[in-house]
Amino acid sequence: MKSLDEYLRDAELAHGHLCAGQVLGVRLAMLGLQKLGIEDPRGKDRKRLVTFVEIDRCATDAVAVVTGCRLGKRALKFRDWGKVAATFVDVSSGKSIRIAAKESSKALARQMHPEIADKNQQQMLAYREISDDDLFTAQWVKVDLPPEEFPGYKGQRVACEACGEGINFRRETQRDGKTLCRACAGESYYQPT
Ligand SMILES: [Zn+2]
Ligand SMILES: [Zn+2]
Repeated sequence: MKSLDEYLRDAELAHGHLCAGQVLGVRLAMLGLQKLGIEDPRGKDRKRLVTFVEIDRCATDAVAVVTGCRLGKRALKFRDWGKVAATFVDVSSGKSIRIAAKESSKALARQMHPEIADKNQQQMLAYREISDDDLFTAQWVKVDLPPEEFPGYKGQRVACEACGEGINFRRETQRDGKTLCRACAGESYYQPT
């Protein structure tokens, strides 16, 4: 694994700026990998890891940088729960660990560096200094990862019987005897105008 500073440089490049969320995300991912004993996530261990992230904010970009898990490789899974947390799944051992940022970390940053008025600067510094135990909770968990969730899954593509569009990775549903995509089954996030 690289050092915190090296990862922060990579994260700044990927994310466009350095911020408290990057520091938090880099440390969160480093802790997760450490616990799993994954040393080279972008090299020899690159097929060992699937990562679930629970927020679409700064920290998530940093988690992707450290783990090498990307949405387009199906190794990064997004659960929109609005929480600064991620679960790291070692698919070679089946072990998984969920790391979450503690709610108390902002207050602790304030306590440690009252001399810094800017919140982002204050947290950026404090999040480098605070111990893992004060910054995060870590919990061993079990993640059900069906075959179609694995990055290398090769499955049959089916067509939605309503809209005709192709559906991959078993995302189709059955409704009244018909094979439908999630949009046609009523889960659509868009409406035709
Ligand atoms: Zn940011
Ligand atoms: Zn459809």
